[in-house]
Amino acid sequence: MQASKGFLAALALTALSSAVQAADEVVVYSSRIDELIKPVFDAYTKQSGVAVKFITDKEAPLMARIKAEGENTPADLLLTVDGGNLWQAEQMGILQPLKSSVVEQNIPPQYRSSTDAWTGLSLRARTIVYSPERVKDGELTTYEALAEQNWEGRLCLRTSKKVYNQSLTATLIETHGAEKTEQIIKGWVNNLATDVFADDTALIQAVDAGQCDVGIVNTYYFGRLHAQNPQLKAKLFWPNQEDRGVHVNLSGIGLTKHAPNPEAARKLVEWMTGSEAQSIFADINMEYPANPQVKPSAEVAAWGEFKADTIPVEVAGKRQAEAIKLMDRAGWN
Ligand code: FE
Repeated sequence: MQASKGFLAALALTALSSAVQAADEVVVYSSRIDELIKPVFDAYTKQSGVAVKFITDKEAPLMARIKAEGENTPADLLLTVDGGNLWQAEQMGILQPLKSSVVEQNIPPQYRSSTDAWTGLSLRARTIVYSPERVKDGELTTYEALAEQNWEGRLCLRTSKKVYNQSLTATLIETHGAEKTEQIIKGWVNNLATDVFADDTALIQAVDAGQCDVGIVNTYYFGRLHAQNPQLKAKLFWPNQEDRGVHVNLSGIGLTKHAPNPEAARKLVEWMTGSEAQSIFADINMEYPANPQVKPSAEVAAWGEFKADTIPVEVAGKRQAEAIKLMDRAGWN
């Protein structure tokens, strides 16, 4: 009897201590690598005392894992890039709404899910990179114009298998409809200087090396390359400044459906949309803060200001399947 009482007391104590521990901890599954997230989580732990545990992997296995773990998932939050991926996670039923007036105040609506399933944390423009040696002043105008004959044999593109291009195409469909978008994409494919690239970095290097005159890339890849090689000749151009603006996508975060610590997770997300975290998070990958009150780093600001497309990034997900089919029909490998 005595022993049994002691055993029960010990059990109760264990349960209590794990509950206390759990409340002071948030678990994040992240498709962003350690070096891009750890400094932000460390800063949070330092001021809040809340531990942030994370694992990193590609987005597809992370989402499958949350789905498979179901009610037993240790994950409170999913952190990944591109509205297309976040929308997929929402469709899989692995996220739940995170309603927060703090997040609503900090992040513009076009960078959040309309159902509050996720919010953007940092922004990247998918814009035009060009050779100032081979592209004349005034020659560049819009994404659409890269389909014109003037660019025949001069354009480089990354593969259509990458979500970034699927999201860009999705927003073109939203703007122009499917028929006109297919003409634009066919024009791009016709104008290719060479086979599609596996990544944006190789594409920028190809522009720099003279393999092509112009291409479409995410801004932070340009930033990284420029930091490594200040002699880089390729430059960024902001298209569509007379109309809808540059295509902007994001990295973002969502609360998992069966989050063990939803309250602690909400506090972390709110903090991540605030000024201190926004600067650390955006600067580390040469991105733009999603909170418009927070200024980008000097390196990023040096690329110049631009008008961004205000289409909700969620469209990238809603029209993703349509975009993939259209790119395939147009012959974009
Ligand atoms: Fe990327």
